[in-house]
Amino acid sequence: QCGFVAIVGRPNVGKSTLMNEILGQKLSITSRKPQTTRHQIVGIKTEGDIQAVYVDTPGLHKDQDKAINRYMNKAASSALRDVDVVVFIIDRTAWTDEDQIVFDKVQGVKGPVILVINKIDQLEDKDSLLPHLAELSQKMDFHEIIPISAKLGTSVDRLEAVINEQ
Ligand code: GDP
Ligand code: MG
Repeated sequence: QCGFVAIVGRPNVGKSTLMNEILGQKLSITSRKPQTTRHQIVGIKTEGDIQAVYVDTPGLHKDQDKAINRYMNKAASSALRDVDVVVFIIDRTAWTDEDQIVFDKVQGVKGPVILVINKIDQLEDKDSLLPHLAELSQKMDFHEIIPISAKLGTSVDRLEAVINEQ
């Protein structure tokens, strides 16, 4: 079994932190080759007979006027083609215009989309997430919505279990 997992989201939501956490977390990694290019970072994680290829996409940028942003948007979009699972990350705070841009791309994807709400360690009141969750679940039929802290590793194992089920 080999899955192709795209991690997408606007800049600064924690895509790289999450990928590092997933790839660095367990000792059973048999292949760990993060490959840094200016455009995409790819990591492979093998556990038993599950192999997942993770792609940390560059952020999708709102300002289409800048050539570099257009280029990066294209790279991010191409990472979404032929994926088995999309991990769409947002911040615990409000839905922004840039989240919407990523969301629009994600909607065209065939595979399951897991919505990850990151940085929950910064939430003072855990219950404040609940109304937000209800609203987010109306937006599309997400496979799952999982609140995590990529930085602390909170619920990252749960996210991985859901990814590996696909
Ligand atoms: P990317 O642009 O989506 O790849 O985001 P990064 O992984 O580079 O993270 C952007 C910033 O958010 C960095 O300063 C991270 O340390 C911080 N960050 C990422 N995940 C978390 C988290 O779960 N909690 C907190 N408090 N900060 C985080
Ligand atoms: Mg990054």
